[in-house]
Amino acid sequence: MERTDLHELRKDPLLGRWIAVLGQPKSPADYVVTRDDDTEKNCVLCAGREKETAAEIMSLPGRGRGWATRVIPHFSPVFKVEGELGRRGDGMYDRMNSIGASEIIVESPEHSVRPEEMGLEQMSKVITTYKERMADLEKDPRLRYTLIYKNSGREAGAFFSHPVSYLASTPVIPKRVKEELDGAKQYFAYKERCIFCDIIREELRVGSRLILETRHFIAFCPYASKFPFESWIAPKRHCCAFQDIVTEEIEDMALILSAVIKKLRAAFPGLSFNYFIHSAPNRIPRKDHWHTLGEDFHWHVEIMPRLLRTSGFEWGSGFYVLPTSPEHASQYLREV
Ligand SMILES: [Zn+2]
Ligand SMILES: [Zn+2]
Ligand SMILES: [Zn+2]
Repeated sequence: MERTDLHELRKDPLLGRWIAVLGQPKSPADYVVTRDDDTEKNCVLCAGREKETAAEIMSLPGRGRGWATRVIPHFSPVFKVEGELGRRGDGMYDRMNSIGASEIIVESPEHSVRPEEMGLEQMSKVITTYKERMADLEKDPRLRYTLIYKNSGREAGAFFSHPVSYLASTPVIPKRVKEELDGAKQYFAYKERCIFCDIIREELRVGSRLILETRHFIAFCPYASKFPFESWIAPKRHCCAFQDIVTEEIEDMALILSAVIKKLRAAFPGLSFNYFIHSAPNRIPRKDHWHTLGEDFHWHVEIMPRLLRTSGFEWGSGFYVLPTSPEHASQYLREV
């Protein structure tokens, strides 16, 4: 089999889901990952070692002379900026080149700071960095979607001990996002209201799944969560795209995001978790673009604590079992 630097995207003909196949195939031995070099001494993401990474894409200034946050290309990008999409058939199948962007968002010049301990000013800068990168990548007409996500802890797939988030921009809308967009669009077509605005109103009215409410956001455990202690953060103001967040909301989001992570880590010391931002696809008009996108979708953050291992039942059925109800989980989190 040929080895190439170009990765490819393949479409599952049954489910319509795209997956990425890396150009340099790993052998079985390559799957055994030992990261004994991941110490502060060897970390090229720390302040002072900027020359050892690729040129930065952007940075936000810190209080002194250095940077507060810094964005660099991923060391082993799945999605690459250069090249053409090259959509083509492959027998009955569909494939294209893995065009897009894979970036690392370095959240702090300091190596060992945890997200919930970095302080609101620093967290606001992290959120501002997310916003600027998303706004910039939305301008590329080849790209359909940008996902910002974080892996914290080994169980959550973290590779660096330095605090980082990631960004992946893809030439297709990911399946999981498409399902949410379709669900929101259907609800809107039926009720002429945003489903997320309705959920926010409902959760504020009932209160039993609420974790925290701030001026501009609510945090709650969703009614039909997939995982125990799954927590969502949503802005009260209706808005489909995260990058339209305003300064006042950024500070408030820093507050609620830090608070929820702090609560989760207080309930589960050493917890690994993922979070990601679900925002509207890039809003460049296209032939399949729907007109109600601005009204029917509502951006939000989903935080997934990695407390359980997925069993054959979940894999086989897509049916999830919650050992702690969202009502109990939110009560623990409110009180912790
Ligand atoms: Zn470091
Ligand atoms: Zn809404
Ligand atoms: Zn979502």
